[in-house]
Amino acid sequence: MSFDDRRRNVRSLLFFLVALLGTAVVSFAGTFAGAADREQNGRRYTPTAADRALPPAVGASPGPRVALTFDDGPSPQVTPFVLDVLAAKQVPATFFLQGEHVAAHPDLVRRIQAEGHVVANHGWEHSWFPDLTPEEAEDDIRRTDDELTEITGVRPVLFRYPFGQPSPGGDAALARLGLTGGVHWRWASDRPGDFQCPGAGAVTDYVVTEAVDQAMILLHDAGDVVGCAPDQLDYLPRAIDTLRARGVTFGVVAPSPVPSTVNAGSRAAVVPR
Ligand SMILES: [Zn+2]
Repeated sequence: MSFDDRRRNVRSLLFFLVALLGTAVVSFAGTFAGAADREQNGRRYTPTAADRALPPAVGASPGPRVALTFDDGPSPQVTPFVLDVLAAKQVPATFFLQGEHVAAHPDLVRRIQAEGHVVANHGWEHSWFPDLTPEEAEDDIRRTDDELTEITGVRPVLFRYPFGQPSPGGDAALARLGLTGGVHWRWASDRPGDFQCPGAGAVTDYVVTEAVDQAMILLHDAGDVVGCAPDQLDYLPRAIDTLRARGVTFGVVAPSPVPSTVNAGSRAAVVPR
């Protein structure tokens, strides 16, 4: 083999290696882009003819009023679908957002706010507050508050403890930060909640059963529900249509000096948006 032949061989080998590397890089990037696309393309909701024929929402009305509350979000897998349904059905809701998810998906937080829902604080990393020191409790709440304020330009006024588990240190921090909480929810039935993945029929049944006047209904748009079958989300348009047919209207959670008898004594009320 001549020197030139050897040089040509080395050159073809190099060319081959570069091409191989290029293909690997493209396919590696493609895998990531694919994953990102799948994540961003969670289920979406298309308004029905009945949704499009809804008259514009009116403020106060005489029937029972309930608040749909969504915890642990936002998530790209569930929040867009929830927001699509709420927009199509003209239903306002209250979102108790988790700080670390807020920091990861500020665009979804902005969409929640832009579409007229209430943005509230659910702590930074879903801690069990009884295990936190008073300093840790205050840091968890304050950090979430600051992140939400930076993204929305509005400081939240409501806080819900993760797992509904308060602590004296947490309560002291809420008082210092001027937040109302913990905001609880109505849980009068023994039915499984959405986080237990019981399916669309069972979650619809749970929502409809809990929906007495002033009920704050506990639902989720992230956390455990991300692992439920995607068609469980059918509960949301179904439950809204069922309740509306019964004369129920939808409000949002607001601070109140009077403890709520149907929501475990929460100092909060369901008011028209
Ligand atoms: Zn939670």
